[in-house]
Amino acid sequence: MPEPLLRIERLAAGYDRMQVLWDVGLEVAERETVVLLGANGAGKTTLLRTLLGLLPAWHGEIAFAGHDISHLRTDRRVRHDMAYMSEIAVFAGLSIEENIRIGGQFLPAGALQARAEALYALFPILRERRRAAASSLSGGQRKMLGIAKALAGEPRLLVMDEPSAGLSPILVKEVVAALRRLRDGGQSLLIAEQNVKFLELADRVYTLDGGRIGFCGSVAQMHENDALRRAYFGLR
Ligand code: ATP
Repeated sequence: MPEPLLRIERLAAGYDRMQVLWDVGLEVAERETVVLLGANGAGKTTLLRTLLGLLPAWHGEIAFAGHDISHLRTDRRVRHDMAYMSEIAVFAGLSIEENIRIGGQFLPAGALQARAEALYALFPILRERRRAAASSLSGGQRKMLGIAKALAGEPRLLVMDEPSAGLSPILVKEVVAALRRLRDGGQSLLIAEQNVKFLELADRVYTLDGGRIGFCGSVAQMHENDALRRAYFGLR
């Protein structure tokens, strides 16, 4: 087995003395899309923030492309080719172009323009509006910009916290379609979500419940499990 792109083992974390994550293990392979599925308060944001070094790990290991990154600062982790799209992903007062430039600030000189062009090809609406302030975009367009900004630095892994947050079902569909294009282009993705619509994209799913990983497997395997079917799909 080749080393996965991301490997998290026995991770524990929380706030002050309140433990939120318990013995969490999760892997993402190169070119794989993994969905971390969990209800409100399950600990998804805590897990992603710990992965990025925004919160300290209490114990456990985090390895990226075979390197232990557990003790690195967030900026170092990001330079290790991991991008994080939080729920508030864009600078509303800046233009679309400026947001993308900030996302790609660590690219070698000259590479940013080509990267921006590739992103505009992926999201044509952003090209049309590129000089407009991000605050003038619709919710769905803003989410596209958040994705483009996170991708501007050509990360090997894009980590996303609830890309569906604040979006209507129609816009959620658009975001899923955009992520499918990325996925089909070989982008590795880790998506934390409570919306099962994102399972359409998943090569593998982890469920997080009360800060612990419950299930890990394919969507088809989830459907075969009565308890998971009831819990996540509302089916009997
Ligand atoms: P959501 O979908 O609501 O964002 P989540 O799965 O991302 O949910 P977390 O935000 O990681 O869940 O929250 C997990 C637990 O940690 C919850 O009990 C929450 O109340 C608690 N928590 C989150 N942020 C803090 C904080 N800054 N200080 C203390 N407790 C927190």
